[in-house]
Amino acid sequence: MVSKTFLMVKPDGVQRQIIGDIISRFERKGLQLVGAKLMRVTTELAEEHYKEHKGKPFYENLIQFITSGPVFAMVWQGENVVDITRKLIGKTNPKDAEPGTIRGDYCLYVSKNIIHGSDSEESAVREISLFFNEDEILEYNKDIDVWIYKS
Ligand code: UDP
Repeated sequence: MVSKTFLMVKPDGVQRQIIGDIISRFERKGLQLVGAKLMRVTTELAEEHYKEHKGKPFYENLIQFITSGPVFAMVWQGENVVDITRKLIGKTNPKDAEPGTIRGDYCLYVSKNIIHGSDSEESAVREISLFFNEDEILEYNKDIDVWIYKS
């Protein structure tokens, strides 16, 4: 089923100037970028986004980190986009992430793991609406989809 997911290059990825590399990986796979912006995450937004982790040992550090500099927030669309992007991103802890995945290729520590990706359809809907207004998500056709999608 074609659906949408929320992906975010975290402040470490922006500082390391790998936004372009990361976008390329999803484009090459055949997924479609339908929304994107460079932005700062306020403490309020960070706490809402990561509310399931409140009280965990890494929580305070995570909020501090995600608000420490600009992030690049994105909405991607495609077939099974949540599962596919989670696979391309790799395991949460870069030491367990396979080579070839973003976290496997670009980082060393769980606290600086470059990118966020929604982990379910429900999280995707929630996170997209937290970070994007409806008019910031575009609908458009790509002629090349005839070579990507099965007929
Ligand atoms: N995190 C951390 N230490 C941990 C676990 C998680 O710093 O021991 C951070 C890390 O940035 C991770 C985020 O908290 O990406 C959210 O954790 P989650 O388990 O939801 O992983 P994700 O969905 O990002 O792979």
